[in-house]
Amino acid sequence: MVIVSACFLGVNCRYNGISETNKWVEEWTKNGMAVAICPEVLGGLPIPRPPCEIQRMENHKIRIMDQCGDEQTSAFLIGAQKTLEIAKIIDAKAAILKERSPSCGFGKVYDGSFSKRLIIGNGLTADLLSQNGIEIFNENQEVAFKAFYKKITAK
Ligand code: SF4
Repeated sequence: MVIVSACFLGVNCRYNGISETNKWVEEWTKNGMAVAICPEVLGGLPIPRPPCEIQRMENHKIRIMDQCGDEQTSAFLIGAQKTLEIAKIIDAKAAILKERSPSCGFGKVYDGSFSKRLIIGNGLTADLLSQNGIEIFNENQEVAFKAFYKKITAK
């Protein structure tokens, strides 16, 4: 089974109250092998909500701040934990997650200054899933995802 960012499937769960529908992800999930999640909603955040970014502190810890200046770290941690619980229940081997999101992004995320600057890093949910052995893909990795899925289902 595969975890998929719900916003790819037409769910209007993004911070701005709209989806990020993605054709190939939507098409692939018609096989019934995916479970859609939105970590930020699972963490208790509303739709819409102020955009959030990960900030790195001087002590190397991180915190999640929204654009209004309110800290949302605990909601993001809860969302990541709940997503991991779901992933374990369905025995997920992979996840297709929205790039650059402070929850779902993997490899690159915004730097916490709300100035659209990207830095190397992972969203909290993507990071937790990856630490637990789940292979992470984004919407631009259709070929790599399909090759990986073919390999694991051929066993
Ligand atoms: Fe999409 Fe993930 Fe953001 Fe939810 S948290 S809206 S699933 S990118």
